[in-house]
Amino acid sequence: MAVANTGAVNGDVVVPDELANNVFIGTIAKVLDPIYNWSRRNSIWPVTFGLACCAIEMICTASSRYDLARFGMEVFRATPRQSDLMIISGTVTKKMVPTIVRLYNQMPEPRYVLSMGACASGGGPFKEGYNVVDGIDKFLPVDVYVPGCPPTPQALINGLIALQEKIDQQSIATAPWYNKKDPTAGIYPVPVLGPDLVDLRQLDLIRQEAAKHPVEDPVRAAEAEPTQPPDVAGAPKTVEPQTAGPQ
Ligand code: SF4
Repeated sequence: MAVANTGAVNGDVVVPDELANNVFIGTIAKVLDPIYNWSRRNSIWPVTFGLACCAIEMICTASSRYDLARFGMEVFRATPRQSDLMIISGTVTKKMVPTIVRLYNQMPEPRYVLSMGACASGGGPFKEGYNVVDGIDKFLPVDVYVPGCPPTPQALINGLIALQEKIDQQSIATAPWYNKKDPTAGIYPVPVLGPDLVDLRQLDLIRQEAAKHPVEDPVRAAEAEPTQPPDVAGAPKTVEPQTAGPQ
């Protein structure tokens, strides 16, 4: 049935008068995005995960005094597979980085990372320590940084509100998790724990730099060297320990 071109004009579409109260025509940006973002921003479930003293403040934030339930964030999940948010709350040691990246890879999209405190963002008081990484953003994409040592619960809440505002700006049309040609594109390589932490993304660069400064293997060098006969005449004499005589 042909529709008469009489009625309200909604963009490029003409809606007949008899349907004007029943049909709503809009764009993804105007209709779907606000609903989609509103539902996600008010139900962010963090993964139950703490690293050091900052985690105590994170736990306080979830208590009744600060009431994270106001933001729909009180449901800390015990598995990354049900979580949207990873709060890096504390000192990130090299030993823990492989585990943190593995947990992040197990979270479904869309997922977010909040770096809480000086340690997580840049090493904090342990920066340059032999066992501490100077920022989790070397290994994971961080959405919000919360400064402080430790940040107060109010500061963490402020960071969570900043995350909500970031979510408000996202669109279904451009969201990266719906536009992946390669489904493994968001998978981050798990670093290798060794003499020093190796980020697999930097492997080519590490190989190039290592080739510039070859390190001689001392065992092979010792095997390759011809053995010298001992200089018997100049050898130091062994001093026998003196033993006490009979009393
Ligand atoms: S930033 Fe301060 S409070 Fe937080 S984990 Fe580091 S040392 Fe502890």
